[in-house]
Formats: sequence, structure tokens, C-alpha cells
Amino acid sequence: MNIAVIGTGYVGLVTGVCLSELGNSVTCIDIDADKISMLEKGQSPIYESGLEDLLQNNIGRGNLNFTTDYEKGLYDKQLIYIAVGTPQGEDGSADLTYINKACESLARNLKQDAIIVTKSTVPVGTNEYIMKKIQSSLPQDITIKIASNPEFLRQGSAVHDTFHGDRIVIGSDDEEALETLERINADFNLPIVKTDLRSAEMIKYASNAFLATKLSFINEMANLCERLGANVDSVSSGMGMDKRIGSSFLNAGIGYGGSCFPKDTRAIISAGKDADYHMSLLESAVDVNERQKVIIVDKVMERFSNISGKKVAVLGLAFKPGTDDMREAPSIYVTEKLLAEGAVVHAYDPVAADNAQKILPGQIRYASSVEEAIDGADMALILTEWNEIKEFPWESYKEHMNNAVLFDGRNCFRLDNIAGSGVEYHSIGRPAIK
Ligand code: NAD
Repeated sequence: MNIAVIGTGYVGLVTGVCLSELGNSVTCIDIDADKISMLEKGQSPIYESGLEDLLQNNIGRGNLNFTTDYEKGLYDKQLIYIAVGTPQGEDGSADLTYINKACESLARNLKQDAIIVTKSTVPVGTNEYIMKKIQSSLPQDITIKIASNPEFLRQGSAVHDTFHGDRIVIGSDDEEALETLERINADFNLPIVKTDLRSAEMIKYASNAFLATKLSFINEMANLCERLGANVDSVSSGMGMDKRIGSSFLNAGIGYGGSCFPKDTRAIISAGKDADYHMSLLESAVDVNERQKVIIVDKVMERFSNISGKKVAVLGLAFKPGTDDMREAPSIYVTEKLLAEGAVVHAYDPVAADNAQKILPGQIRYASSVEEAIDGADMALILTEWNEIKEFPWESYKEHMNNAVLFDGRNCFRLDNIAGSGVEYHSIGRPAIK
């Protein structure tokens, strides 16, 4: 099938590349000329395992191309995916500026009937709005149909998730659009949930809201475990064995960040307000996460009282391992607080350092290895659970640091492995080891 994908970010690029891998002819359109010129050369502007190989293979096979030109990109396409960003607006609601701009360009340049598929996470009712907005600007002889196909990939394993996800959701109020999307998606060989437009939009928000709530729930339990002398590891494994609960998203830590959970939880709270319904459970989940992001600095201050002039190694900056994405990463808030207390921050991240330098305060010094970051440090804070950080040998902390005190915001290590190592270890929801 001839497919266009509008927006070549995490979702659009992975969608376009994976659809081309399945044998479709795909053109990806973006307004960012630098991104498009990198992509034309087979270079991925984002770090995602396996993506660049698939990108180069499919450019080579002639299945995949890139353009900034909407007219060229939409030419002869039957299926057009919209995958532009829907960031958080000032009042917490989803900002649809990019969606509006993409729809305007689409309507100006579409010359044939097509099915428009929204991949972006959009508030309930937005697809109907998109349909009206585009159709009303098109010549009378061109007809579009609309479908929602929300995306569930996780950054850091985006290509894997596209081919091995739990389900594909397609929603439309038009039978022909549903059938076409079912046919295209059948090649992924995953369970397909077919539903109406509004329910598909809602499934995405409800899923993210549930996962964010599950994280805030276990973080709240972790905070209580600390006060009551319990160990949250045992609590979550004991809970997770119950199939009604499940063990995923039950790892305590310094809270969620990233480009989705923070904005999507706030967007659904805002949608509730508009519908005159108070989302009290979600509001609490968001509040717990706000506190949790900086809880590690509270632990530092409790242990040291004054960190002015102390060298603090920050290990991991990306909002999670496997990605270079810094959007809403807890490291942003943690480093700000450390600097405000007068600490000298030396940070290391295997892939996110370039992106971090664009948004973190200028005083931070960047190291090119864990060793370099912790060398002579008075304490180290783990903020992202990269394998490289989890596998770093205990002896080396003692060897390199001025003072081997480790604050682990991601509970990377089992307590029985640390006891006797000579490293002072503070984590989330578990007793400290001194
Ligand atoms: P992104 O910011 O990484 O990428 C968006 C891309 O759209 C950018 O390359 C930008 O240049 C481009 N763009 C903006 N306006 C455009 C226009 N008018 N025409 C063409 N291109 C345009 O965003 P993302 O992380 O890929 O997210 C996209 C959507 O998918 C959002 O709604 C997000 O909530 C949702 N989503 C994201 C993830 C994720 O893990 N990142 C997962 C599921 C769903």
C-alpha cells in the first residue's frame, strides 16, 4: 500500500520504518529540514535499538523515502498517518497546534481520496474535529475517511514493541476505514482491538493513566515502607505474583518522566474538568509523582545536611534507559535542586548527554564514563538504570570516590548483594545499608 506518515519523531519514524519493512511504500514527511536531510542519508535523529539498520535497509530497497514537501509526500497515498507531537498546553490540556498545522498542510496538498489515521495521542473527540477540519478545506470531489490508531510503543524498545506489542487498537466509525486498517495491521500478527473512534482515543489515555497510577501507587507504598521498616522489593514481588495485580510497573523509584505519562495524565485531568468531572484519583497520582521526582535529594540532605562545594556524581540523565530522550526526565529536577544546594555536579549518561546539555543548567560538567563522573566524588546518585550503570563493579566506587555513598533512585541492586561491599547505600522504600 502507498502510505504517508506526517511527523518523523519517535512514533512517526518508527511507524514509517516498520510499515516499509512490511513491504509498504512509505514516504515520511516532516517540517524539520535537518531531520529529513539526516534521514535521507540513512541516519536516525533519535537513538532506538535496531532502527537505523531497518531505516537503511528500506531506503536501499526503495520502500522508504523522506521529504519536507507535502505535495510530493502525499502524492498517490491511500493511507496517511498523522504522528506529530501533542505536547502539554499551559493549562495542562493537550496542545493541538501541531495537529492543526499538519491538517492544514494536508488539506492544501491532498489530491485524491484517502484514509487519515491519527497515531498521535489526542483527546477524545479530536478525530471528529480533524475529519471536519480537513474535509471542509478539500475540493468537493475528494473524500476522506478518518481512523484512530493510538500508539503504545515504549521509547528504548520502540522497534521491538511495534512488532511484538500486546495489541493494536484501531477505531473508526467507518467500516471501510476499519477494514483497510485491519488489513494493513494484520501483517504485524498481533491481536487487534476494533472499536469506535472515541473509544480508541480513550483507550490510549486510560492505559497511560492506569500505568502512571500504578507507579505512583508503588512509590507511595515505598515511602511508607521506609517509615515502617518494610522492604518495598518484597512488597512488590509479593503483590505482583497475584495475577489480578501483575508485576510490571510495580518497581519503586524516583517516579515517571518522559514525553507521555506526565502530559497524558494532565491532559485527561483537563478533559475531566471540561466534562465537569473531577479526576481525583489521577490528580493524586500526579501529585505523588511530583514529590517522588526529588525525593532522592531529600535523602541526600538528610544524610549530609550541607552539600555546598561537594562533588556529586549523577549517573544517568535520560528519563529511562534505552533512549536519549530528556523530556520531563527526573534528572532535570534533581540536578536543579543539587545545584541550588551548592553541589558541584558531574553527570554521565551513555547516550543522552548531548540532549541533556541543551536543557540542563550550564554549570553541570559532563563525564565520558562512570569512572570519570565518580572520580573523587563525595556521593553518587543513580537516576537512570542503564545496564552499564547496573553492571559497574562495587569495588570501583570505593576505589574512585572520595566517599563511597550511593543514592540509588532506581533500586538497581539487591540489598543482599551490597551488604559487606563497603559502599553506603540508600535506595527507595528499602532500609539503608551503612
Ligand atoms: P516528537 O516530538 O518526537 O516528533 C514529532 C515530529 O513531528 C517532529 O519531528 C516534528 O518536527 C514533526 N512535526 C511537527 N509539526 C509538523 C507538521 N506540521 N508537519 C510535519 N511534521 C511535523 O513526538 P513523538 O514522541 O513521536 O510523539 C508523537 C505523538 O505520539 C504524540 O501525540 C505522543 O503523545 C504520541 N506517543 C508518543 C510515544 C512516545 O513514546 N514518544 C508513545 C506513544 C504515543
